[in-house]
Amino acid sequence: MSTESSLRADIVEVGRRMYARGYTASNDGNISVRIDETRLLMTPKSVCKGFMTPDMMCVTDLDGRKLQGDRDPSSEMQMHLEVYRQRPDVRAVVHAHPPIATGFAVAGIPLNRAVLAEVLTTLGSIPIAEYATPSTKELPVAVRKYVKAHDGMLLANHGALTIGGDLFAAYYKMETIEHFAKISLVARLLGGENLIAREEVARLQDLRTTYGIKAPAPICPDPTAIGDLLSSPDPLACQIVDAPAGGGQRLVSDARRDAPDSSLSSVPTGVPAGAPEDDGEIRLTYRELSALIEDAIKSVR
Ligand SMILES: [Zn+2]
Repeated sequence: MSTESSLRADIVEVGRRMYARGYTASNDGNISVRIDETRLLMTPKSVCKGFMTPDMMCVTDLDGRKLQGDRDPSSEMQMHLEVYRQRPDVRAVVHAHPPIATGFAVAGIPLNRAVLAEVLTTLGSIPIAEYATPSTKELPVAVRKYVKAHDGMLLANHGALTIGGDLFAAYYKMETIEHFAKISLVARLLGGENLIAREEVARLQDLRTTYGIKAPAPICPDPTAIGDLLSSPDPLACQIVDAPAGGGQRLVSDARRDAPDSSLSSVPTGVPAGAPEDDGEIRLTYRELSALIEDAIKSVR
């Protein structure tokens, strides 16, 4: 069991890393850790997380009453308390505004595509909790919907939240989310992701068991595969991952860049980009379209 003084030092270190990596600006973000079954250590409000000292932390109970500390606890304390209420297994909560992941949260795009094996085996999917006014009771309500089945989520037009069995586990999940967001952004700028096929996602799900990777919930079954369009996956019970059927392929080109609705009911059946679909429509990447226009101009000359 970690001692309180080492937990205080760990919070200082994680705050320093978050600020150094640009996950927070000014006084943004907050961190909390369980000391024992009845008490929490919580970062104080109105301090830059890059320059904290161990004595700044507040000790609170699980209802948010301050038991010790010269400063007041974070204004987002209620969100942390809700996580501990819903997930007795959780011992640390980290909240930050990492800019690329927060960009996805602002654009309303969840990080739920099957793209990276290590993300699928650890976090699964990263949904977006509905917009809530920061520091109000709305935020814990928004987080409650996803926290039972997810260890990380985006907060609409706000930031990201990660949780774990210890402070560094929670912090590393924040790193993973921002890293995943960066890779997703670059892949989309380069023409779109190749998605890991649903069958391969099932294999990765099995690896969780093989390697003893703790995940709060399984990946949801593909609703198109079970042929029941009325029963949409429940984000309270499982992790919704956007993965197309592979039809024997392990990677499938994403042919849906023009369709903003990426719900599972519209998953493609493995049609490569540019190939005709059932409706006869041909979809091209920006690069392919540019090449066609260039060729056309050359032939006119
Ligand atoms: Zn915030």
